[in-house]
Amino acid sequence: MARDLSVKQQLELVVQLSKLDQKIDELYEEFGELPEQIEELHKAIEEQQKKIEQLSERQREVVGEKTDVHLKIQTLRDRQKELEDLLFQVKTNRQYDAIVKELEYIKQQREEEENRYATLAIQEHNINKQLEQEQEHLAEMKEELEALEKEYAELEGGLQNKIHRLENQRERLAKKLPRQLLSHYERIREYHDDAAVPLKRGSCSGCYSVVPPQTEVELRNYYRVFFCENCGRILYPEELQEKEPVDS
Ligand SMILES: [Zn+2]
Repeated sequence: MARDLSVKQQLELVVQLSKLDQKIDELYEEFGELPEQIEELHKAIEEQQKKIEQLSERQREVVGEKTDVHLKIQTLRDRQKELEDLLFQVKTNRQYDAIVKELEYIKQQREEEENRYATLAIQEHNINKQLEQEQEHLAEMKEELEALEKEYAELEGGLQNKIHRLENQRERLAKKLPRQLLSHYERIREYHDDAAVPLKRGSCSGCYSVVPPQTEVELRNYYRVFFCENCGRILYPEELQEKEPVDS
């Protein structure tokens, strides 16, 4: 059957095949970006979870330290009370001086610990605030991931149908081509997505190299199938491009 095709008919088929192949490529490309985005987001979420874990650990440390300081303050406060009561019971000046001295020391200690407590309380507050923000951010990321995965699932269904349909169409087309021309076409496709290109203003529109005038005349008259001497692409007259592909 293929043997009966004229050069023009062969070229028409090649043009259709090339357009179909490029459309299939595009569909695969469209499909190919989402998985990458999803994977990146997965990684980012993991990082965010680590960050939150570290913050939580820091929070626990600060809370623990705060409890320790609180206990210290209580002990100091009790000792202060004890000493203040003792002041009324002392018998000698020497005892009195000693208690006053210790009281001063205890008060100073208590002040220091109270300052430390205040600092820790501020730290805890800041960490809590940051944790809240980071948790919100994590929730947003998870929402985004969910949306992307949904989009992917929807696209997968639609795209796979489209690709399947186009690939069937392609198979039918390919069968009509002379085997040699098809295998040549397939070889060019390994290097160029657009294996068949129109001749435009005397040049190959794939690599822009100029075609000899004699070749151009022969090509326009469908003398035979021509290949670009520079890039190897199949060349066809520009007029063929305007025809809409026929679904067979
Ligand atoms: Zn070329």
